[in-house]
Amino acid sequence: MSANALRQVVIVGGGTAGWMAAAGLARVFGSLLDITLVESEEIGTVGVGEATIPQIQLYNRLLGIDEDAFVRATRGSFKLGIVFDGWGAPGERYIHAFGEPGTPLGGLPFHHYWLRDRLARGERGAPDLWAYSLNAEAAFAGRFGRSPTGGFGPLGEMPYAFHFDAHLYAKFLRAYAERLGVKRIEGKVLDVTLGEPDGRVVSLRLDHDRELHGELFVDCSGFRGLLIEQALRTGYEDWSTHLPADRAGAVPCARVEPLTPWTKATADAAGWRWRIPLQHRTGNGYVFCSRFISEDEATARLLSQLDGEALGDPRPLRFVTGKRRRIWNRNVVALGLASGFMEPLESTSIHLVQSCLDKLIQYFPDRDFADAPRDRFNAEADAEYVAIRDFLVLHYTATRRDDTPFWRHCRDALPQPETLKARMELWRRAGRLPVESHDLFKPNSWLQVLVGQGIEAEGYSPLANRLEAARLSMWLADVRGLVARAREQLPDHAAFITASCRAEAA
Ligand SMILES: Cc1cc2nc3c(=O)[nH]c(=O)nc-3n(C[C@H](O)[C@H](O)[C@H](O)COP(=O)(O)OP(=O)(O)OC[C@H]3O[C@@H](n4cnc5c(N)ncnc54)[C@H](O)[C@@H]3O)c2cc1C
Repeated sequence: MSANALRQVVIVGGGTAGWMAAAGLARVFGSLLDITLVESEEIGTVGVGEATIPQIQLYNRLLGIDEDAFVRATRGSFKLGIVFDGWGAPGERYIHAFGEPGTPLGGLPFHHYWLRDRLARGERGAPDLWAYSLNAEAAFAGRFGRSPTGGFGPLGEMPYAFHFDAHLYAKFLRAYAERLGVKRIEGKVLDVTLGEPDGRVVSLRLDHDRELHGELFVDCSGFRGLLIEQALRTGYEDWSTHLPADRAGAVPCARVEPLTPWTKATADAAGWRWRIPLQHRTGNGYVFCSRFISEDEATARLLSQLDGEALGDPRPLRFVTGKRRRIWNRNVVALGLASGFMEPLESTSIHLVQSCLDKLIQYFPDRDFADAPRDRFNAEADAEYVAIRDFLVLHYTATRRDDTPFWRHCRDALPQPETLKARMELWRRAGRLPVESHDLFKPNSWLQVLVGQGIEAEGYSPLANRLEAARLSMWLADVRGLVARAREQLPDHAAFITASCRAEAA
């Protein structure tokens, strides 16, 4: 090992981000690193963050964990997409399903054929986009299976993610990380010592007169950003002009039937409500903009629309949408809420922990903390954050709602970033959906949200005209048939869990 190799890693915080970092680093670096995590039970964790996207399977694979054991331990359920209720207009509903609707033909993405059919037959005459999506059809039928097509045939895989209990997830990862030798310290960080001349963090002063030294510090201390902001004054890019929600209330309620394999996001007077079904309870919350509704009113709206008995009082949360100016500053890398937060509409926050952790592993520093890897890390993380931001803004601005001052504000006054405007222009003219290397959300996601929110494409790729009209109709009918047959082969979601990963106490 090189004399310059870094050895001591200190992680501050034991929420989802802290334990994901600890487990991931311990798994990848093994005995090359000494990892210590400090957390405070008295301070606690944010306690939300229970819906994920399919990329989490990459993290699970990195850890090499058994999926059934993980779902059982976290009392989780499976997720095939997010249902958006009332976003385009009141009463409308669509799903952002994982996976691609249809299948490409002759090198051309499916949606161009679908657009041709729709423009020829009209919106009412043509089957909707989701009749071609196995994820969507299975979700609405309440069904779930791991690989209904065995990964073969034109439908490919059925991508899925998880809902889980955030506390149980951190506990699960903690047990994993401790087995791999991560040391945990229970205690509060009271002060941070910076060294000369470069202002790196040298050590942390803990309660009970303890001192903790390290070389690389991973700040997973949540919104407070104990190291990245309070100690290093990194600065924050405030994105609330684009993403106006700034508060949330969260409350669990009793589980009701059926156990839906999707997260639900329902547009409401001054924001939206989430619903996350777990084996033992349902997670609920109201994300809102405090300029348009009081906390009391938001809480009342949340409680009045639960579909089961409330299991506690709603917990208020405050945030400013945006990100740190540098997610990696000096010898501190911020992960999770310490790095920024863009609101939970598309369940992206846990993914960003994972993807920044992945970048950290890729650009892992040595003791001299050279600029180049850090700059590259920051550039890639920034690009990913910005692309996600644009995708979220689309949901708010592409609306026809005008029933409340909040929605009128979103529709008429919320500025769209230039990058988003450029994408929408490409879509409107000829159904083009560009993809950048840093995009988390691929064309199939943009497609579903654009169509779901009522943004019409006026044209499609001329290549879709290569197929004769009668053959196009037959082929589209075949794809719909395949989807419907595959859906019928899937078990009921709750029955699948009972058979494979039911939690004992659930
Ligand atoms: C309303 C809301 C809904 C969300 N929903 C989703 C979702 O559905 N999907 C998703 O992917 N993400 C979601 N998120 C984000 C998700 O909750 C977080 O990304 C995730 O939980 C990680 O949080 P964290 O570990 O960064 O912070 P926290 O959970 O806040 O953990 C911070 C840790 O730092 C410790 N700490 C703080 N100060 C000190 C100190 N002085 N000394 C010692 N320890 C200290 C705390 O004890 C704690 O262990 C949501 C967030 C919010 C606010």
